[in-house]
Amino acid sequence: MAKATKTITQAMQYPSRYAAWFTTTQALFNTVASFYFEVITAHEQVLLLSSHKALHALETLTHATEENPDPVMPLDAIAPQVPALFRRAAIHAALGSAHAFETSLQKWRARKEKAALKKKRFTEHPPVPPRTWNRSPTFYKGQWKGRTASSILLKLWTGASWIWVNVRLLSRDLPDGYEPGSPSLVRHGSHWRLHTPVEKTFTSPGKVAVQLAHAQTRICAIDLNLDHHLAVCTIQTADGSTVATTFLSGGKRVNGRRKWLLGRIARNRRKTGILAENEPDNLALWEKIRHVDEQVAHLISARIVHFARQHQASVLVFEHLGKLKPQKGRYSRRGNSKRAFWMKGRIFTNAKYKAWNEGMITSRVNPRNTSRECARCHGLIVRYHAKQGPEPEGYTPGAPLAWCPACGMKGHADRNASLVIGQRLRTRVHHQEKPRAPLLGPGERDEKSSGVVRSQDANSKGGPSRRRARRHGTGKGHGTAHEDHARMVAPSAIPRPLPLFSEL
Ligand SMILES: [Zn+2]
Repeated sequence: MAKATKTITQAMQYPSRYAAWFTTTQALFNTVASFYFEVITAHEQVLLLSSHKALHALETLTHATEENPDPVMPLDAIAPQVPALFRRAAIHAALGSAHAFETSLQKWRARKEKAALKKKRFTEHPPVPPRTWNRSPTFYKGQWKGRTASSILLKLWTGASWIWVNVRLLSRDLPDGYEPGSPSLVRHGSHWRLHTPVEKTFTSPGKVAVQLAHAQTRICAIDLNLDHHLAVCTIQTADGSTVATTFLSGGKRVNGRRKWLLGRIARNRRKTGILAENEPDNLALWEKIRHVDEQVAHLISARIVHFARQHQASVLVFEHLGKLKPQKGRYSRRGNSKRAFWMKGRIFTNAKYKAWNEGMITSRVNPRNTSRECARCHGLIVRYHAKQGPEPEGYTPGAPLAWCPACGMKGHADRNASLVIGQRLRTRVHHQEKPRAPLLGPGERDEKSSGVVRSQDANSKGGPSRRRARRHGTGKGHGTAHEDHARMVAPSAIPRPLPLFSEL
């Protein structure tokens, strides 16, 4: 079984006096959580226990019961009358922070030892435990009740006592088919919102190779661009026929808007004569730029997934991002192309998790020459503008039309690239079916990847992925192979480009 999780944010309507109670509840939650962080620091062996046993151990240390009348560090001394479920939520928050802190401390020690071995100077400061606590209070069942689509009862700390209050929930309802988890109260500026994690389980969709073994399987191949058509998607069947195409535009508008905003920042900087990064005016402009990118990445990725679902595709395939080609020119032009490139990465990451929530998997292929290769005969194409006439020559980067001198294919260049991307996935899966000789030298072979090249996609969980990906990349073969289902639920923020690619 596979799992998909997401968080639903709901705005709330409440009398203004509740806001003060939300604040006192949050303050108490953080007091209790930081107290437990101290307890864990004093009893580090707790971190070796399972989460259930750690909870029990911490309660024995702090909570008085009949069998345990004198706990070592009583919670009551800090905060009296804390309900059991509120305490447990705070303990879990503290355990989470303590584990994270422990991990970063271990990593720091490892780096320090490594530097000492190489006799290098090591100046990095060790990580410090959290000085202040600003966690959002989580409400375990028992701290909330009576949830409907439009309201929920929450148990709040007023500073003197615990009371139940009823708040109205606005905006979106919880989605069908998802199981809600424990909600938390999150402050957004002067407003408070309710965040609810939701989870659904579904039958695991199966690996790319398994899915493509059926001729009826449909894949959605996506060519992402920096300019006018941000994404061009084609639906292809596993046996190679093309079913549908869509062009998702908007790139020109985004680029224009972003470039204009960057230009204003540049002018402000010129005026002040210094890099006024924190000028209130520039802060607002940067915020706008981020907002534009974020919104477009969400919109385009949602439309990609919608299109794929509409045509019953079960696999999305992109090309690896490749490298950012630095642009020459003014600040606004350079900055703009960099941000357009980042946005491309964000469209991919968003599409990947949105597709997973719909039960689709995502794969990536080698990007080499996808826009120069003819989808029909694999010869090199000519890219041209319509004004260049019917028999154009050469390759004009970014031109919309494609013509193949070898087979006479004519069409849209981005659509051609999208077809090539789909073909690469099929070719790769087809190649993988044959038994292969070891890719790496003797003794170098990775057990897990026997016969299959693992890429950064599958490897990025651990540290050495980049080096291994490069080694594989130069060895032979393909950009991506395995898909790691567990990881797809929470894809990493920005996919790293694979440093070297070799031809298929
Ligand atoms: Zn051709």
